[in-house]
Parts: sequence; C-alpha cells; structure tokens
Amino acid sequence: MSAASAASRIHCPIDFGRQGRQAGYLRAPHSRDNSGWGTIEIPIYCLANGEGPTVLLTGGVHGDEYEGQIAISRLAQTLDVDRIQGRIIMMPAVNIPAVLADRRLSPIDGLDINRCFPGDARGTFTRMLAHFMDSVVLPHADVSVDLHTTGHSADCALSTNMHDLPDAAMRDKTLAAAAAFGAPYNVVFAGVDEGATFTSCVERRGIVSLGTELGGWGRVNIEGVRIAARGIDNILKHFGVIEGEPDLAQADGTFGTRHMMVRERDAFHFAPRDGLFEPTHYAGETVEEGAVAGYLHVIEDVDTPPIAITYARSGVIWCGAGPGRVRRGDAVCVVMEDFAPDRPAH
Ligand code: CA
Repeated sequence: MSAASAASRIHCPIDFGRQGRQAGYLRAPHSRDNSGWGTIEIPIYCLANGEGPTVLLTGGVHGDEYEGQIAISRLAQTLDVDRIQGRIIMMPAVNIPAVLADRRLSPIDGLDINRCFPGDARGTFTRMLAHFMDSVVLPHADVSVDLHTTGHSADCALSTNMHDLPDAAMRDKTLAAAAAFGAPYNVVFAGVDEGATFTSCVERRGIVSLGTELGGWGRVNIEGVRIAARGIDNILKHFGVIEGEPDLAQADGTFGTRHMMVRERDAFHFAPRDGLFEPTHYAGETVEEGAVAGYLHVIEDVDTPPIAITYARSGVIWCGAGPGRVRRGDAVCVVMEDFAPDRPAH
C-alpha cells in the first residue's frame, strides 16, 4: 500500500494488482448520532486480464445524472473478464450519498464533489471521498472516462468534453479518444474550469481524460444511455482493451463526432434577474448571434413585460436551461462554436 492510500480513511477491498474479476464496496467512515462507527458502502469493480492499459469508468459523481450510472453498472454486471486485455476499474456510483438522494450535491455536507478535488483525507465526507479518488484510484489509470449529464439544472447536446490542453501531444491523444467515443459532439473547453474538478485532477496526473454530458432535465435520456454504452465500448476498442473497431454512426444518419469549443467569455448566457425562463431553442439547435434565446417572465410583477435574452454569438446550443424558474445569475444557455484551437497543432 502506498503512502497516499495509507493516508485515506476509506477502506478499499480491491487488490488492483490481481488478475480476474473483483467486485465489492469501498467502506467510507460516516459517524452519525445512532451509529458512531457507521460506514457508507461505495460499489467498485476491477476486471484485469493479461497486459494492457487501465481504463477508469466513473458515474454518479453528481447523483442526479443517470445515463453513466446505468451504462457502467450494466457493463460491470455483464462483461466477461476473459474478453479484455488490460484492466477496467468501474465505479458506477462514486458519490453514492448523492446518488441515493437523487441530488447533485452531497446530502451529508452539502458539497459538490466536482468542486472539491483533489480533496482532503481529513476533510468532510465529500472532501475525503475526493481525496480517495485522486490519491488511491487515479494512480492506477491510463485513461479516465467520467460520465456526466447536466442533471436537473439543464439539458444538453449529447457530447464528450475535454480541456484545450497545453501539451499538444496529450491534446491530440485526447481528441482521438473523443472521436473514438463517438458522441455526436465533442466540446473542448477553453478557460472554463477552475481546477477543482475531477477532470483537472486526472489531467494533472498525465492521464487521458474525457468527460461527457449525455442527458439532463432530471430524466433518463434514452439516446444518452445508448451513446454512453456504445462510447465506453468504443473507448475500450480504441485502446485495445477489447477487440474490434469503434462504431461511429449517429442516429441521424451522419457519421463521426463534430468537434466544438466552449470559450468562457461569451458562450454562457445568464438570467438578468429572478424569473420564469421560456427558452426558444432546444440543445443541439443551430442559433444566430442577436436572435432571441428566450424570455424571462416576471409573473409576480404587473409592470414588467417579458425580458428578451439574446445570443451573444452564433453556434450550436450545448446546454439549455431546465427547471423553468431561474435566479438572477443562473446560466440559461451555453453556445458552442466549431473547434478552432488557440494553440497551433504540433
Ligand atoms: Ca454533471
């Protein structure tokens, strides 16, 4: 056991060096009024066979995001270890307190784990769990696919995502992995992350990192589940963990992934005040700069007509508002543009 794993308070039953199929539960301490030695069990699977890369598959980092949980759980329950060459670590419900509560934030300490990385071994439950993921799980991985959706707060165009990495070779390797995953879109973020996400942790360790947005609005997106399951299968094929070629046909008859970009400065559109937001377009629709993105209705005020919010740029809608009622400062729409790297390819 490494010094980093010894520092974690979470017990891991998996021997990452062992061949074959292992399934069990991380045991995370959670002292409560009626159970001072209480623990929370987090499912984990490790399949290893022969030599090959290690692919880490994570779902349920946000509890109200279902497609990745479903796709990873099904794969973990059904994949024959003899079919693989290498290792697959699967955690379909990383943030299980949030998963079982059907919430984005942890019901234990109110934190968003995806804003807590690299975490703290002696911190609150969520910080402790983030620290475990970074210090115990990630050192084993060569490739990480962290499956998200936009949860209750939004809907999204079905997509993978990645950062506009400063290392050109790593960026090209990640772009190739995204293309192999085969979602309709791949979104490259330029200046969007504050460094506290799981993705940033993965990147700091030099591991290929892909995220996804494959649903939202608090329901299971049927095509999102299909793309999640196929994308995982495609990634395993791309990295040689299972045999075969990635399937890149799209449901609309097109082929392959359209690489896009979200830049911080004008991709995000915010509500100017509290109200009921009426969007004009669905995620995935093409929109023009200056066109109406939606109307904000101030139902309680007889003197305020609907407030039009317009697109700051042309592009394709990546995320659109979900819940109807929004607060001043909430993002109601994110527009992506076609991929044009800030840094020249090497
Ligand atoms: Ca998410």
